[in-house]
Amino acid sequence: MSQESSVVDPLAFAREGRRWQHVLPLSRFPRLAAEAIEGAGELKVSVVGWVGRDGHLFLGLEAVGEIAVGCQRCMDPMVWPFRVENRLMLIPEGRPFPEDELDDDSYDAIEVAARLDLAELVEEEVLLAMPISPRHESCEAPAESEGASRASPFASLAKLRGHSGQD
Ligand SMILES: [Zn+2]
Repeated sequence: MSQESSVVDPLAFAREGRRWQHVLPLSRFPRLAAEAIEGAGELKVSVVGWVGRDGHLFLGLEAVGEIAVGCQRCMDPMVWPFRVENRLMLIPEGRPFPEDELDDDSYDAIEVAARLDLAELVEEEVLLAMPISPRHESCEAPAESEGASRASPFASLAKLRGHSGQD
């Protein structure tokens, strides 16, 4: 599958009821891969288009997978299994957002141009769903003396992620 295959005309995609469905390696999603502490893994992704009531165009997207992230307490890797789903109402560029529709929280409205990268769209949704400060259900922080004497490789990662010190 080529990199280009995820770029579509989103309005035509929805109008024609198309479906984009793949199993893609984590490396195909550079921003997600940057958040993961292991490069392995894959995502099962699907995007479907349809025409809703009043002729509004929608995309429904789903991503399922597992990503290894760093536990913010013990600094060991932990697997974050996820299933992300969302429905998006497509607003053609330059058109006003239909305000009455925005009260409906079963979907988000997004403005789209003539081209949209479905892989990037899915990646964004997964990033939004990612835990800010992931922790094992049960684990212990490294002992103070140990932490002071040798730097954890994940401590610097946590700083890079901008999540250090948050709780
Ligand atoms: Zn932990």
